[in-house]
Amino acid sequence: MKDNLENTPLQFKQIPAFTDNYLWAIVQNHQAWVVDPGDATPFIDLFERENIALKGILITHHHNDHIGGVEKLLAWAKSFVTFAGPLHPSMPRLTRVLQDLDEIELFPQVIARVMAVPGHTLSHLAYYMPQSELLSVPRLYCGDTLFATGCGRLSEGTPTQMQKSLDRFAQLPAETLVCCAHEYTLANIKFALHVDGNNSDLLAWSLQAQALRDQQLPTVPTTIGLEKTVNPFMRSDSPSIIATAQAHSELSLQNKEDVLAVIRKMKDQFK
Ligand SMILES: [Zn+2]
Repeated sequence: MKDNLENTPLQFKQIPAFTDNYLWAIVQNHQAWVVDPGDATPFIDLFERENIALKGILITHHHNDHIGGVEKLLAWAKSFVTFAGPLHPSMPRLTRVLQDLDEIELFPQVIARVMAVPGHTLSHLAYYMPQSELLSVPRLYCGDTLFATGCGRLSEGTPTQMQKSLDRFAQLPAETLVCCAHEYTLANIKFALHVDGNNSDLLAWSLQAQALRDQQLPTVPTTIGLEKTVNPFMRSDSPSIIATAQAHSELSLQNKEDVLAVIRKMKDQFK
């Protein structure tokens, strides 16, 4: 019986919240892990409707739209809940502090690998679920570090840190699903076309994403493979992005992080 339960398929929930956030849950056998519960209510509604117990909470970073629902969820859950994330003063009640290269077992034989990905915040983590018997396509929960066709603002970190973080994502399998925390895609595409307008993959993706949004469908998750072809922040070594960045900088840009620094600043000012 135990073996049968352990082979129960995983279910993945993507819940829109606030104006443009996505909240995520991973469910197996009526037990759930949630990622970045900025709001507790949609999870509690789902769990009560589908008779699901909360097993654990994974946090990518300390911003309120990612942790705002934690206390309410913990109060709602009747039994022990693992509350895991990066060490940060705004999360004093973590039951497990995670750091780079840690692994956390979500369910039997289902693990998430922890990646430290500073840039948006200094202690930002991402969670990578590799392909396995129960998971045919790997998944990346990357919070506000990588977005569809964009990346997070450098609220705390440096361009060098963000570049390294994105480089690590680029090493993941192309089919990896990018489960980011916001539906910023159309605005990101508008900027991407501004800096990389001759990119035919980007032009094709732009039409596809617009069609999805016209039908009120999410553009998220995308894949690492797609991001490497359309996302200017994943393409800071491509000739077209280098040329755009150089044209907007008085300094001679020496490396990828110099290029990323310029285009990130351009994006901050882009309307
Ligand atoms: Zn954030």
